[in-house]
Amino acid sequence: MLSPARHLSISWLSWLLAFTCFGVISFGCAPVSSADLEENREAETNSKPETNTKTEPDKKSELDGKTYLSSLSGTVRIPASRLPIKVYLAPMPKGVNFKDSYQVMLKDAFAHFQDSLAAGSFLPALSFVYTDKAEEATITCRFTDNEKEMHFAQEGGVTELVMDSDGIMKAKITILVPRRDCYIKKVALHEIGHALGLAGHSPDQRDVMYFSVQPDLNVDPKEVKLSARDIDTLKAIYSQSEKPSPIVKVEGMERSAAGRAMIISNEGSAAYKAGNFDLALKKYQEAYQADPTNAVIARNLGGLYVNLGSINLMARNVKVAETFFKNGIDVLSKHPDNKPFCRQACTAYGSLLMMTGRAAEAKIFIEKGQGK
Ligand SMILES: [Zn+2]
Repeated sequence: MLSPARHLSISWLSWLLAFTCFGVISFGCAPVSSADLEENREAETNSKPETNTKTEPDKKSELDGKTYLSSLSGTVRIPASRLPIKVYLAPMPKGVNFKDSYQVMLKDAFAHFQDSLAAGSFLPALSFVYTDKAEEATITCRFTDNEKEMHFAQEGGVTELVMDSDGIMKAKITILVPRRDCYIKKVALHEIGHALGLAGHSPDQRDVMYFSVQPDLNVDPKEVKLSARDIDTLKAIYSQSEKPSPIVKVEGMERSAAGRAMIISNEGSAAYKAGNFDLALKKYQEAYQADPTNAVIARNLGGLYVNLGSINLMARNVKVAETFFKNGIDVLSKHPDNKPFCRQACTAYGSLLMMTGRAAEAKIFIEKGQGK
């Protein structure tokens, strides 16, 4: 049997592992232009971001076959330990705005990535497997008809990346409907590109990773494909031998309240990494206040509370530790995504209660920790 002190130190170590800070970035992108909006959706043309294309038809040969690595905000990727990539497709919601063909376009997009990346001898393991468990997936995808889930007007999709020290841990893709199938296919390819580590946009409008989709897009969805540059850029990222440097901020993130909250959270994570827990706490609290709906921000704050609880418990500041644990459980319990972390927090708090002679109360939290 473990002595209380020994038990505590093991628990502390597991906390450090569980809560290495998470970076989170979000790509609000693929704005749709008014001509591509379906008739039942009102267009707002005045907020269209400035176009910045450097592409002219006579420069085609000059650009072909090159990468746009230099246009990206940095490089991140899904680490080899998380391959093949598990993908979860949320069931299509009911309603007139949702068509089964959207799900088909999404699956076609994944298949197209897999075919394109498998060509030649390049990393055959960079492939996708579908799972019906969202919690075990690296990439999750869902459709929404709520424009408010986008960062700004005319956006077609959003991808949120959660990173740990190994690279991309989770990518959450949300695609706005209703739209034409060809447009959905293009947005799906674009967002999957972000999910795989294309952290930014191409300056060339012929690339899927260009930031917007052209208004005249009305083609057979089968014709909507990645460009050679899209593929080569992705291959370049996954061929790098050294660990990619994680990025903490993407151009345009500051445009939305949700994006600004993520930036603050990432500043908290940088402080956390540097060992400045006071500053990390301040930043995470600020980020959580700005966007309490973001599960990653809640996880960062809740995780830090629990870590601080453990540190204070080891220093025998039981009262302070207790407050931190309770705050941690409170924040972590609000998001279904954070269930496993909340259970760990309950277990840690249960240990504190047990050590301080409150066995009946301890039992409740230890059982919660076991998922009962
Ligand atoms: Zn984008």
